[in-house]
Formats: sequence, C-alpha cells, structure tokens
Amino acid sequence: MTHDVVIAGAGPVGLFLACELRLANVSVRVLEQAADPHSPLKRLPFGRRGLWASSLDAFHRRGMLEDITMPTAAGVGFGSGAMAGGPGAPRPAGHFAGIPFDYDDIDAARWPYRLPDSPVANVSCDMAHLESVLAARADAMGVEVRRGVGVEGFEASDEGVTLRAGGETIRAGWLVGCDGARSTVRKVGGFGFVGTDPEFTGYSVLVDIADPGKLRPGRNYTPAGMYMQGQPGYIAMADFDGGAFHRTRPLTLEHVQAVLRRIAGVDVTLTALRAGTTWTDRAYQAATYRKGRVLLAGDAAHIHSPLGGQGLNLGFGDAMNLGWKLAATIRGDAPAGLLDSYERERLPVGAQVLDWSRAQVALMRPSPHARALEAILRDLIGTRDGATYFAERVWGISVRYDLGSDHPLVGRSAPDFELADGTKLGERLRSGQGLLLDFDARAPLQALATRWGDRIAYVASTAKDTLGLGAVLVRPDGVVAWVAESAPDPDQAAGALSRWFGQPG
Ligand SMILES: Cc1cc2nc3c(=O)[nH]c(=O)nc-3n(C[C@H](O)[C@H](O)[C@H](O)COP(=O)(O)OP(=O)(O)OC[C@H]3O[C@@H](n4cnc5c(N)ncnc54)[C@H](O)[C@@H]3O)c2cc1C
Repeated sequence: MTHDVVIAGAGPVGLFLACELRLANVSVRVLEQAADPHSPLKRLPFGRRGLWASSLDAFHRRGMLEDITMPTAAGVGFGSGAMAGGPGAPRPAGHFAGIPFDYDDIDAARWPYRLPDSPVANVSCDMAHLESVLAARADAMGVEVRRGVGVEGFEASDEGVTLRAGGETIRAGWLVGCDGARSTVRKVGGFGFVGTDPEFTGYSVLVDIADPGKLRPGRNYTPAGMYMQGQPGYIAMADFDGGAFHRTRPLTLEHVQAVLRRIAGVDVTLTALRAGTTWTDRAYQAATYRKGRVLLAGDAAHIHSPLGGQGLNLGFGDAMNLGWKLAATIRGDAPAGLLDSYERERLPVGAQVLDWSRAQVALMRPSPHARALEAILRDLIGTRDGATYFAERVWGISVRYDLGSDHPLVGRSAPDFELADGTKLGERLRSGQGLLLDFDARAPLQALATRWGDRIAYVASTAKDTLGLGAVLVRPDGVVAWVAESAPDPDQAAGALSRWFGQPG
C-alpha cells in the first residue's frame, strides 16, 4: 500500500481534501491529469469565483482565510462584495438568475447563530490564486501532488484500491474522485449519475468589439436568450439551443459573433476572440457518493450551471465533511456509520443546489412567462424578507444537517464565539480536532473529554455571547454535534462524544 488515500484531481476540492486528510495524519497522494496547473481560464475575468460564508468559515477554521482574501501581487482578484460601490451606491451581495440582492436589504439579525463579527460572508476571488494557496498549503503539509498523471482505471476490493495512472500501478487504501465534471473515477466506478439535460449553451468570451455602443451594459434578457457585458469586451451569453453547441465544435470568432447578433438583436461586429469557453446548465448528481473504498467529492459528484456561484462552495463543503470522517475510519476509531454520514449529509445539500440552479434557468428562458416571473422576483428580492432569504440560501447559511436533534443549532455551522481570551472559536478548530466548549467550566466535562484523547480538545471559557448555552460539542468540520442548555449533563455529553468520536480510549 503506497498511501492511505489517493485523490484523483488537484483542483480546489482535491487539494482542500488532501490538506484535511494530512491534518488528521493520513498519508495522501494527489494525482492530477494536467501537467500544468496554469490556465487563462483560471485567471480574471474567466476565473472569478464567488466564495460564500460556508467556504469562508471553513478557511477561517483552518487558518487560511487571510491568505485567500489577501489581494494578489498584481492587485487583482479579490474584493469583498460588502465593500463594493461608493456611498449610497447599490451593494450587490449575490444574485438569483442575474437579479441582484443588496447588502442593505439583508437582515442578519434573523440569523441568531451567525454572530455579528463572524468572518466575511462574501468574497470574490480568482481560481488561480485560490489553487495556488491550496497547493502551497498541501505542499507545506507534506502532500505529494503528481501532475501530468491522470487516473485511467482502477479495481476496488474490501482491502483497498489498485489504480492505473501514468503507466504505473498504484495501491492505496482508499480512492477519492475529485476529478471534476467528467470524472473518470465516477465512470469507472459505475456510480449512477442522474439529472436533467441542458436547455442552453453558456458562453464566457473575451472579445474586441468594433462598435461596442451597439450593446447594452449589464445583463439583458431578450426574446432569443441572455447576454451580459460585465466589463468592456467580457461577454457572457445563454443561447437556448438545448446545449447543442457545447463541446461539439471549436469556438470561433464567426460563431460567437453570430450568436451574439442573434441574442442581442443588433449587427454588432467582433474583430477578435481573445479567449473563451462554453458551459451548460446540465444538472446531474451522483446517485451515491460512496461505493466501498471509492468516494466522490466536488464536481465529480454534482454538476450544474455556474449561475449564482455555487459549485465550488458545494465542493469545499464536501471536502470539509469528508476529510475527518475518512481519517477516523482509516485510524480505526470511527464510530459505526460515520463514513456513511458523508453521503447522508452532503447528498441532500447537493440536490438543493441543483434545484436552485434549475429554478434560475426557468427564470432565464426567453419567454414572456419567464419575464413576468422575473418582474415578480425583482419585487420580492428587494424586500427585507426577500433579500434575507436569498442571502441565506446563496451564502449557505441555511444549511443544517439532520442530526436527529430538535435543537435548532445542532447540525448547523458553529457560531464563531469570541472567548474570554479574545480568541474566536474558529481559531480553536485549526488543529482539526473536535472541540468540547464548556461555558460553565465544569470539572466533569473536562474529565470526560480527556477520555477521548487527542480526538477532542476541551476548552473551558466564557464568551462575549454564549447564546445562553452551557456547552457545545463541535465536530472537526465546524458543525455543531450537540448542545447543552445552561447545565450540561455529563451522560448526554458522553453519548454525543461516543456517537461522533467513537469509543473512549
Ligand atoms: C464560468 C464558471 C463560473 C463559475 N463560478 C463559480 C462561482 O462563482 N462560485 C462557485 O462556487 N463555483 C463556480 N463555478 C463552479 C466551480 O468552478 C467548480 O464547481 C469547481 O471548480 C469544482 O472544483 P473541483 O475541484 O471539484 O473540480 P475541477 O475544478 O474541475 O478540478 C478537477 C481536477 O481534476 C483533474 N482531472 C480530471 N480528470 C482526471 C483524472 N482522470 N485523473 C486525475 N486528475 C483528473 C482536472 O485536470 C482538474 O484539475 C463556476 C464554473 C464555471 C465554469
């Protein structure tokens, strides 16, 4: 066995998962098909990605948030949406089918478990920088990343996985497919992949325009589709061709001009196609995320249109959820069923995101019915209730796993409590251990926690705002596993610890 885990794909999800596994002392090798990690499509404007609260909380909990949100040397790539615009200007905080919702309309007081000074909830960044930060962290943690070596096939048994990659045979305990939308791991592993077929081909192109004044700025719905000019020459389009063009023919200047003329309804002239890519709104999800010793995460497990920027955030959520569970399984101290809870928790979240993207497509269709619906949605999204609802969904704040408790905090991302010494809860999770936070400083809980050794950190402290709680058990992925109202019951705490961290030593 060369490694405990082989990850196929050094995209953002594969790299993040590799770091999670190393944090838990699991040996991991990443095999990446592409020899060169650089691509113009990973840089601005194509590489722009919205990162939301769910991902930013995860980076905060691993001490990476500053690196990821730091402006790049070139001075491009980043900016918190909260800072967009000047005084009095709209402050778009995200969108639904291109209809923006504004920071000033969001009522964050309705999220009692997201404390006011939580990490930033909305950052825009470029893929190139994001991947370079993740690759540097993986390297510093001793992850072996081999580029130019794609996974070609594998056989899995109850004991391990034998892979064929780059002409070599590699043995590993486990294989995780983070190899993107056309995942080889998913196909070779025979994972079911089900969903809805595309309605349009999406275009993102950088062009020179002879007569730019013929195009309207911003996002425009027309009887033939949608076009958007975000910045001069950078055009996104949706052509409702049933996805027929995507990956069937080369992208040429003549083709882009013809599609743009048809959608915009003007005879605009393009003089150069500098770069471009196409995508669709195909929305498919793996029927299962695990088959024995083979697992899927990120785009390998779910694909959908990039509308509203969800896919990457979904993938980081998969990686954060899976890493500690797989590590505990490999160490042999996982409670029964822990690894299966990965699919149980993440598959429904993925299904919701796929539906979210389908709903946006319905609203974008070139039809009077869709325009009528759009007008209603514009009204609703501009209300306090509307903006708060859309922010909750887009930013991932509404995600709550069903962990079998009625307490509304259990299953949610833990509040970033500010402890008596000024540290935040997120900082206390950087070791990747679970954490028993005891606001009552009760000796029984401390003695209890020590029985789980280094699987659990125990912190006794008051907090600036305890939300009226006595104790909170937080999983390594930052999810609340158990809470006690003012007086913690050690028996209940022991039950929760066993449920998530196995038998005490
Ligand atoms: C135009 C556009 C805009 C987007 N905007 C957003 C946004 O704002 N917010 C957001 O959350 N998401 C956004 N997304 C989606 C997001 O980019 C993806 O969800 C994300 O990149 C998925 O990451 P991943 O690591 O799972 O897969 P990928 O990024 O696809 O990485 C997979 C890696 O696996 C490698 N690979 C493939 N096959 C093999 C093999 N057989 N063996 C080894 N390696 C292999 C590939 O070379 C690649 O490096 C957008 C997507 C597009 C197209």
